[in-house]
Amino acid sequence: MQPFDYVRATSVADAMRAVEAAGPGTRLLAGGTTLYDLMKLGVETPDHVVDINGLRVLETIDTSQPGELAFGALARMSDVAADPVIMRDYPALSESLWRAASQQLRNMASVGGNLLQRTRCAYFRNGPPFACNKRASGSGCAAKEGIDRGHALFGGSEACIAVYPGDWAVALVAFDAQLDVEGPRGPRSLPVEALHIPPGATPDVETTLAPGEIIVRIRVPKTALGRASTYHKIRDRESYAFALVSVAAALRMEGDTVAEARLALGGVATRPWRAREAEATLVGRPFTPDTAREAGEAAFAGARPGRMNGFKVELGIRAVADALSIARERN
Ligand SMILES: Cc1cc2nc3c(=O)[nH]c(=O)nc-3n(C[C@H](O)[C@H](O)[C@H](O)COP(=O)(O)OP(=O)(O)OC[C@H]3O[C@@H](n4cnc5c(N)ncnc54)[C@H](O)[C@@H]3O)c2cc1C
Ligand code: SF4
Repeated sequence: MQPFDYVRATSVADAMRAVEAAGPGTRLLAGGTTLYDLMKLGVETPDHVVDINGLRVLETIDTSQPGELAFGALARMSDVAADPVIMRDYPALSESLWRAASQQLRNMASVGGNLLQRTRCAYFRNGPPFACNKRASGSGCAAKEGIDRGHALFGGSEACIAVYPGDWAVALVAFDAQLDVEGPRGPRSLPVEALHIPPGATPDVETTLAPGEIIVRIRVPKTALGRASTYHKIRDRESYAFALVSVAAALRMEGDTVAEARLALGGVATRPWRAREAEATLVGRPFTPDTAREAGEAAFAGARPGRMNGFKVELGIRAVADALSIARERN
């Protein structure tokens, strides 16, 4: 690991000042479970690290407001996952966190840092001699002709086909969650869906956050859909693994008819992937195994598999159908 300067911020304003003073080679430190990992691998080489763990104000979990849930960016994954209101009223949110990483990691890792984790593409993490446009812009993409078993079916470009690996963002996108950020130009809000950007010709540019912006809060609109929701995650082994395919699903039924549906996919796209066309196939129709399968087929209709990841299409269709069945049972 390269040497770096370390400061501990005492307020959000103090953190912003420290980031601005130190310049572009600066990283915020939350749980450190991704940042230190990437620094040890030499993928991240910040000159300055600003520790925000002293900002207790960012640790709150507020489920009491009438219109929305609010999670401070430094709330720990394990605390949000185990919150009784979240477990009861928004199982998809809770399950997306329970099924991510290990208990030790969840105890350290923050829900804000989770959103900003970087891809697990092995070529990106291991670096030279492998070409990787995300790690070194313009160097090429080893995955294109290499092992692309875990790579994206949606949103890829000539330059990069790496999947966004996180689970929490997928569930948040299904519920139209918003982010509050503070930065040198003041506070602003944006949909979580607008945070991650597809790789295009510049895969090293991954989010719409401006330099120096800090995520302070994640807000989720309260909705009756929450109770009948699930986060269904398919992986190579049952714990401590990233998704091959994951599905955040929620249904609101009127009798046997679907009144409203939410579907978002993880593990298959370069960013959290809302499947709106698949949602539309369900609305106004009875819920049956056939309509659930049709929704899965609609969700994966635009898939563009590479050489080794074609198996994720049928796996994904079945995962959507299974997730919808779980959500149906929770109505
Ligand atoms: C072995 C292993 C298995 C894992 N499995 C999964 C999994 O299955 N699913 C899953 O979703 N995740 C998984 N993870 C990822 C893990 O969940 C993330 O490492 C963690 O959530 C990141 O949170 P953190 O607080 O530690 O972030 P940090 O490592 O501290 O920060 C991550 C990035 O976010 C930036 N940052 C942090 N907070 C803020 C903020 N408030 N505003 C702006 N920038 C900020 C940092 O500067 C850094 O660039 C796994 C990790 C490991 C090591
Ligand atoms: S898929 Fe993206 S992250 Fe992986 S090697 Fe290619 S450019 Fe790098």
